[in-house]
Amino acid sequence: MTLLDRAIVRLLPAVPKRVVQFFSGRYIAGPALDDAVHAVEKLNGEGMLATIDVLGEEITHEDEARAIAQAYRDVFESIRHGGLDANVSVKLTALGLDLSYDLCRENLVGVVRHAASDGNFVRIDMEDSSTTDETLRLYRDLREAGHDNVGVVLQAYLRRTLDDVHALADFKPNVRLCKGIYVEPPSLAYTDAEAVRASYVRSLDALLDAGAYVGIATHDEWLIGEALGRIDQRGLERDAYEFQMLLGVREARARELVESGHRLRVYVPFGEHWYGYSLRRLQENPAMAGAIAKATVGRMLGRA
Ligand SMILES: Cc1cc2nc3c(=O)[nH]c(=O)nc-3n(C[C@H](O)[C@H](O)[C@H](O)COP(=O)(O)OP(=O)(O)OC[C@H]3O[C@@H](n4cnc5c(N)ncnc54)[C@H](O)[C@@H]3O)c2cc1C
Repeated sequence: MTLLDRAIVRLLPAVPKRVVQFFSGRYIAGPALDDAVHAVEKLNGEGMLATIDVLGEEITHEDEARAIAQAYRDVFESIRHGGLDANVSVKLTALGLDLSYDLCRENLVGVVRHAASDGNFVRIDMEDSSTTDETLRLYRDLREAGHDNVGVVLQAYLRRTLDDVHALADFKPNVRLCKGIYVEPPSLAYTDAEAVRASYVRSLDALLDAGAYVGIATHDEWLIGEALGRIDQRGLERDAYEFQMLLGVREARARELVESGHRLRVYVPFGEHWYGYSLRRLQENPAMAGAIAKATVGRMLGRA
């Protein structure tokens, strides 16, 4: 991205919501659970796996957190009913982490137990750095309590991540490794793109050394190449790792990976609360800055 593009995407929160919604449609299955089910049916038909995310807004009351936990149980019902090859991804703040650790734990355990009764799996997404310690604490807490059908996410941009890999190694964890999307201070996170890549590769090596199952979550061709090289060198079986991508991003590359025999899981978000997720996706789309600038100026001039 050029400096101008970066400047434009930083202004995205000032862009009218209608424009954001127009451009972000491809990243979200739709407002309803049925929309997610249809998206997953299509992905499964193309040989891809899915992970379903219920989009939430900021939780201010415990009833809202319980409602999200219930929404996930409904997702599992649909997965079972439809015979879908999908698991779920949850955000701990949506399950009440900002309200209380115990409430969040109770909600998460409910979802994890429901998943286990279907032989299914729950991935805990990683949010901004104010939640990292509590998220890893809760993951560890669940694993120590014998819940093995749960995985976590580590973000390569955080300077702490290699230490976190080592600290979790004894669990042989199931980890999604991504670059990280939230804006973090340089004291906590690498800000240079090459440093993030280098950290990703170091963390991937350490996870594979620890016998972790890794969800290699990236659309970055260079990193995909590095991962493919390691899979090859280590002679990893196809069920020892998976690639992961976001709905609406690099779909042709996802198909190629599947055609080459790799497991590939697509992150499928759905729900009414599309705005925050949409902003994060648009901010990462290198082609989006110019398109949004044009649409916004056009609208300001009364043409959109
Ligand atoms: C399955 C999955 C789950 C994730 N879960 C988390 C999480 O729990 N916590 C977290 O902090 N982050 C999460 N992320 C986001 C991640 O941290 C990155 O912000 C995101 O994946 C972009 O990084 P990248 O590795 O794809 O590299 P980038 O360098 O950002 O992208 C590489 C290339 O991919 C294409 N591309 C990337 N994004 C877009 C887009 N939106 N639209 C169009 N093209 C695009 C472009 O061609 C770009 O050049 C997740 C990502 C994936 C794939």
